[in-house]
Amino acid sequence: MAFSLFGTKFTRHSGIAQLMDDMNDGLRTPGAIMLGGGNPAAIPAMETYFHDLCRSMLDEGTLGEALCNYDGPQGKNVLLTALAALLRQELGWAVSEKNIALANGSQSAFFYLFNLFAGRAQDGSLKKVLFPLAPEYLGYADAGLEEDMFVSTKPNIARLPDGQFKYHVDFEHLQVGEDIGLICVSRPTNPTGNVITDQELLRLDELARQHNIPLLIDNAYGLPFPGIIFSEATPLWNSNIILCMSLSKLGLPGVRCGIVIADEEVISAISNMNGIISLAPGGLGPALAAAMIRRGDLMSLATDVIRPFYQRRVTQTIATLRRYLPPERCLIHKPEGAIFLWLWFQNLPITTEMLYQRLKMRGVLMVPGHYFFPGLEPDWPHAHQCMRMNYVPEADKIERGIAILAEEVERAHREA
Ligand code: PLP
Repeated sequence: MAFSLFGTKFTRHSGIAQLMDDMNDGLRTPGAIMLGGGNPAAIPAMETYFHDLCRSMLDEGTLGEALCNYDGPQGKNVLLTALAALLRQELGWAVSEKNIALANGSQSAFFYLFNLFAGRAQDGSLKKVLFPLAPEYLGYADAGLEEDMFVSTKPNIARLPDGQFKYHVDFEHLQVGEDIGLICVSRPTNPTGNVITDQELLRLDELARQHNIPLLIDNAYGLPFPGIIFSEATPLWNSNIILCMSLSKLGLPGVRCGIVIADEEVISAISNMNGIISLAPGGLGPALAAAMIRRGDLMSLATDVIRPFYQRRVTQTIATLRRYLPPERCLIHKPEGAIFLWLWFQNLPITTEMLYQRLKMRGVLMVPGHYFFPGLEPDWPHAHQCMRMNYVPEADKIERGIAILAEEVERAHREA
């Protein structure tokens, strides 16, 4: 079949497609230990909450209303107004419903935004998206309409006690040239669990404004919801910042609801793109979120249920890792948020791609590190020494996965 250039680019077996295939294979393999994907945990209290919420929304008619109607291209109005009020009240941001648009998942919002600010410009030049700190989210890597649309900068690596380390933005080598149309950072970061500091964020904000380009902050795991953040961090928004949020990590990935908070001009652009690409974003997730805000539950569930759940899981998982793998074998990025641990096997005699293959054969799925360096030249050894695992499954499953990981790491050292 002869596909167009667009078709050829978007039907490629991209990193994300391979990962999704593996996750699916894993799901079909009985007994597989899935430490690879980004699905949020099934937190019993959240499941009960959503169950009760759907039932009462069905009774009061708001669920039926959401199922049976199109919303406008900006997204469901009741959520836009309720969320703007919540952000004004909780964070003091000067936002109204004109500063918010919805999309079918924040993943589709990135596709819109990357191609709105980067790609082929009116004058024929190629504008790029700059990731100021790689490793970065794998889902960005293939979301450009043009080839070579992403550049990123290697991090500074600070060594911490207890076999931990933390990435920092290397401002000395961060170059915002004429060809950069957008700066983008996830905070907390998937895959590392890093939360760039307030100072780093303010410096990026300043750099973006100096260069007259927006700063996109991907807040899929951050504050005020779902609130999966364990370090001190102040949320930041101003009219030059595009903040992307999501209902997914609250426990609702199936509703595919992403939220963009930005200047009115950007919101109007997103609405028009929504209109062309999907008529309107889906209304089910927004109806649920609006009801959660109306009942005053959204913030308290994030603070009292979701954050403590992941905090407990990450503490347990690190303790388990350390029972099987000492710091000489495996360093751990300081877990500051999100639902992943980023492991650094500094002296491993094989690449983590090979380790991944060996683990997969034994029914354990984790993701090798090299996928997470979009826009960086592929030969940086560090990228092949890291691995991402989530800490979503129950503790006993995680322990079985870690035991197999430790065996495979030892085997690789023995065979070297
Ligand atoms: N941003 C980050 C950092 C993520 O990890 C994910 C999903 O795993 C997303 C965005 C996309 O989320 P969604 O499209 O479900 O809103």
